[in-house]
Order: sequence, then C-alpha cells, then structure tokens
Amino acid sequence: MFDFYPEVNLSREDLLAKIAGAVKESRFKHMLGVEKAAIALAEKYGVDPHKASLAGLLHDYCKEVDDEIFLALIDKYNLDADLKNWDNNIWHGKVGIYKIREDFGLEDEEILRAIEIHTVGDKEMSGLAKVLYVADYIEEGRKFPGVIEARAVAAQDLNQAVAFETMRLVEYLAERRLTIYPQTFEAYNAFIAYLS
Ligand code: GDP
Ligand code: FE
Ligand code: FE
Ligand code: FE
Repeated sequence: MFDFYPEVNLSREDLLAKIAGAVKESRFKHMLGVEKAAIALAEKYGVDPHKASLAGLLHDYCKEVDDEIFLALIDKYNLDADLKNWDNNIWHGKVGIYKIREDFGLEDEEILRAIEIHTVGDKEMSGLAKVLYVADYIEEGRKFPGVIEARAVAAQDLNQAVAFETMRLVEYLAERRLTIYPQTFEAYNAFIAYLS
C-alpha cells in the first residue's frame, strides 16, 4: 500500500477521505476493489503500481456529479460538442478528468488519460490505461455473468483481456438497444484481433 501520493500531494488517509466524501459507500468499495485489481495487474504486466493505485482510487470520482456540472465543463474547456449528446456514463471519465484536475491538482497525463478512457477504451492505450480498463471490469466486487471468464483471460494476456471486455461490452449494449460511443467501436476494432 502507498502512504503518500505526490501527484495529488495527499496522504492516503486524506485522499481516501476526499474520495469517500464524493461517492456513496458501495462505489467507494468498488474503487478500492479496482485499486487492488489494478495493482495486481500492474505488477504482473510491468506497469507502475503506484500510478495504478491512484488511477484505481480516482477513476469513478465523478460518477455522482450532476449533469449540469459536466455540461458546464464541456463549455469551459471547449471539449468536443458531441459529448453533449451523451450522459453520465460517458461523461464521468471523458469530462470527469477536468474536474479531477481542478479538485486534486492532478497533472500526471498518463493517469488522467487512463481515467479519461476507462469506460470506452481507445484504439491506442498505454499499459496503465489497459490495466485500469480491465481492473474496472474484473475487480472482486463484480458479480455479472462472464466475470469469471474475464478474470481468467486477464490472468493470461492484457491485450486479450481488453479485447474480451470490449467484445462483451459491445454485445451488452447492442442487446439492450443502447447507443454505442464511437470510441468504443474504435477500441473494439483495434483490439478484437487479439481474440482470434
Ligand atoms: P463503472 O463506472 O464502474 O460502472 O463502469 P464504466 O465506467 O466502465 O461504465 C459505466 C457505464 O457506461 C456502464 O453502464 C457501461 O455499460 C456504460 N457504457 C460503456 N460504454 C458505453 C457506450 O459506448 N455507450 C453507452 N451508451 N454506454 C456505455
Ligand atoms: Fe466508471
Ligand atoms: Fe469499465
Ligand atoms: Fe468503475
């Protein structure tokens, strides 16, 4: 465990208190679970475990932020206007990083990028981004059908794990007649070959 996070100039205790104040308890537990899974994946796949820890702890910090705040941030930072056609599911990562920058003074671009794309992935992902994307899906609190298989793939190969998760995500969204964010398709197209 890490006692201090210089990227945000906070002790672990103060960091956890700040996060716990922003989300409900079940989500806080999910973030601790993602941290644990992300550290394990980082150690296995040669990624910085300290960065994995911080990315895991912060990744859903904005999940309970009001829509109006996200819409204001899209304007304030001149982000892609298409973002306004989406919702919290997409905003808490893609727009959430601007609030995390403001609230924590976090400027580590690799961590911010990993949090930005933790929901939708991307055609190119750093080791840290892959670790966070997969950890979010397989952390010990996740119960959905398929999570056991996802954990098994993650124990074998990180790129296959990204591909497996993205394939299942696209299936899940299509079965429910939900719209699919274009970057989700880009991630699917870039990684699906790892499964064949
Ligand atoms: P969580 O924040 O830990 O619950 O997990 P994620 O950040 O990975 O995903 C948040 C929500 O966004 C989930 O309900 C996903 O199914 C949903 N989601 C992910 N990608 C897309 C997409 O391309 N389109 C839509 N409509 N929803 C998505
Ligand atoms: Fe999330
Ligand atoms: Fe996810
Ligand atoms: Fe999450």
